[in-house]
Amino acid sequence: MRGLSAVPSYVVMQPTTLCNLDCAYCYLPFRAADRRMPVAVAEAVAASVNPWAASGRFSVVWHGGEPLAAGRERLAALMAPFSAEVEHHVQTNATLIDDAWCEFFATHRIRVSVSVDGPRARNGDRVTRAGHPAYDRIVRGVAALRRHGLPFSALAVVNDPSPARAAELYAYFLDLGCEVLGVNIEETEGVNTRDNAHDAAAVTGFWAELVAAWRRDPRIHLREVEWSLRYAAAVLDGTADGLLPASLDPIPTVAYDGSVVVLSPELAGFTDPRHGDFSSGNVLATPLHTILAGAAGTGWVGEFLSGVEACRSSCPYFGFCGGGHAANRYFELGRFDGTETEHCRNSKIRLLEGVLDHARDHKSPGARAGDG
Ligand code: SF4
Repeated sequence: MRGLSAVPSYVVMQPTTLCNLDCAYCYLPFRAADRRMPVAVAEAVAASVNPWAASGRFSVVWHGGEPLAAGRERLAALMAPFSAEVEHHVQTNATLIDDAWCEFFATHRIRVSVSVDGPRARNGDRVTRAGHPAYDRIVRGVAALRRHGLPFSALAVVNDPSPARAAELYAYFLDLGCEVLGVNIEETEGVNTRDNAHDAAAVTGFWAELVAAWRRDPRIHLREVEWSLRYAAAVLDGTADGLLPASLDPIPTVAYDGSVVVLSPELAGFTDPRHGDFSSGNVLATPLHTILAGAAGTGWVGEFLSGVEACRSSCPYFGFCGGGHAANRYFELGRFDGTETEHCRNSKIRLLEGVLDHARDHKSPGARAGDG
């Protein structure tokens, strides 16, 4: 895997910077301001995306802020320039979902992913702008999705990973009824400067217990665990070298004003004395495909690609990880060409170790007897 691919597998779009919640761990700098994306930005993005979607599966992920805070009329206008082949997704806090939104999702064939951190007691960081708990509003939105028979994914942020948390978390999401679950250990990035260092054994135990809970009842696609198992199986088959893509997916984020930041949505809206605003261009001035073709030449991206090469030569987890996330390096290390971060330890290294610990603990008695 070398360099950046010129064609992404999906584009992240920011229909508004506004979020109606004020979660303690949020990385977004302008979430109190309602800066909305003009339709001209969506038209410019669609001009590059529609040909990509004609030749293979392609997604647009409406992110935010809170994308539903843009309103149905604006979201429909922003989606209109995209061809029927483009898959649309929203990542939402679910608090605004009601019957009308469910009808909108069904009509526009939008796939929904909700952000919820587990049972009520684990959602203490999720609060409204007035500081009130948002949990009841979140579950009301999820109930609307279920009432309408709409499948959904879920994304949970875990801020105190421990073995005891894992079974509780998995049982909660089984009951919630999501099809896919992604688990993020809280990250130090953007305007969230909270420490994300955790006890190594606790984090490894968290992942090992999560695998155990999933194996007891694997009704949910558990994103991180399935990745790890696919990697472990490929190592055993001798095919792991073919798992990483030939080049990095640039994952462009198109901000409300048309500016494009590659690799890490979390960098959008920030500036740095060395790197400026991290943008590789603006779709109102340059076609997206042209911006991406030249994105590897953006100063900070070159620094990041040096960091990926440093990972390749120094980290035994590179074949699984592929070099990590740009924003984690920047916000934890202050540079893009460093290597190991707390995010690596929490969400890559200890994840793989937890999966392997689980496998070791559940070897068949025959295999154990043969252990040297
Ligand atoms: S785990 Fe961290 S140090 Fe290792 S390859 Fe991934 S980003 Fe690099």
